[in-house]
Amino acid sequence: MDVMNKGYAPFHDPTLPDVVMPSCPIEKKLRGQTALVTGASSGIGKGIAIGLGHAGADVVVNYISGEDEALAIVEEVKRCGAKGYAHRADVSSEDDVQAMFARLQDEFGGIDILVNNAGLQQDAAFEEMTLAQWNKVIGVNLTGQFLCSREAVRAFKRRGVREGVSCSAGKILCISSVHDVIPWAGHVNYAASKGGVSLMMKSIAQEVAPWRIRVNAISPGAIRTPINMAAWSTQEAYQELMKLVPYKRIGETDDIARAAVWLASDDSDYITGATLYVDGGMTLYPGFETGG
Ligand code: NAD
Repeated sequence: MDVMNKGYAPFHDPTLPDVVMPSCPIEKKLRGQTALVTGASSGIGKGIAIGLGHAGADVVVNYISGEDEALAIVEEVKRCGAKGYAHRADVSSEDDVQAMFARLQDEFGGIDILVNNAGLQQDAAFEEMTLAQWNKVIGVNLTGQFLCSREAVRAFKRRGVREGVSCSAGKILCISSVHDVIPWAGHVNYAASKGGVSLMMKSIAQEVAPWRIRVNAISPGAIRTPINMAAWSTQEAYQELMKLVPYKRIGETDDIARAAVWLASDDSDYITGATLYVDGGMTLYPGFETGG
């Protein structure tokens, strides 16, 4: 994934493809490991699934919609010499999640890397937010991460550390958001779900560390994906967005994928319970950029 040579334009044409597919890198840090990426038929999940595949992992591409996209991502993983398949499941359904992990056990004999990426927004002014909107966002963004993490920890403990494969028995990456620390008016359900992910991640990390299981989060800033198209698909919206980004470019899914590969690899073996903000400085109080 060669982010440096892409020649970022100050404004991004929404018709551009959202993931670059270069030739597979030679270094296969994750060879012999199996990864599950939830919500991986688009955006950040798609980028991470391809990134893990390029790093040598076998990849299960979970999706709830976009089957054709999911199958194309599996093909890209296979092109790099790894294995994979697409699996439809709703991460907020306990039955679906348990069936997804049972199949993973049957087909790959276990799991090494879980990426909790599936997420959505249902925005409303606070006093108009319905219970259905609240429950939907908490159900997918927080309960979904709980259900998948619980199954992953059970599987990691069953198998333990596999010598020669990885220093740890398993790794969980929770895709959170800068809104796990930045309040977000009009998006109370979303900010609450991501704030919940942050302390859930740290608490699981503390509990399972003795089993050599690592649990970390990546909190993206503004990344160019379908979830936030309104914020980057016109020149005016993009310029407004840049007021919040000291680094003055929107993030790409590659930016998150490369961080995810590193956090999933033994290069980060002593890191657990951490949140990596991949945000071009969005959490640096950009209002104070010129001295406040
Ligand atoms: P996206 O809409 O492209 O991806 C979200 C994916 O989750 C979609 O593929 C969707 O189908 C899937 N999904 C939704 N409900 C699901 C369910 N019940 N079960 C399984 N899958 C489900 O948007 P994205 O930007 O790629 O978002 C990915 C993650 O990154 C989300 O958790 C989001 O909150 C987080 N995030 C994104 C940004 C950003 O700027 N794009 C910033 C911070 C955090």
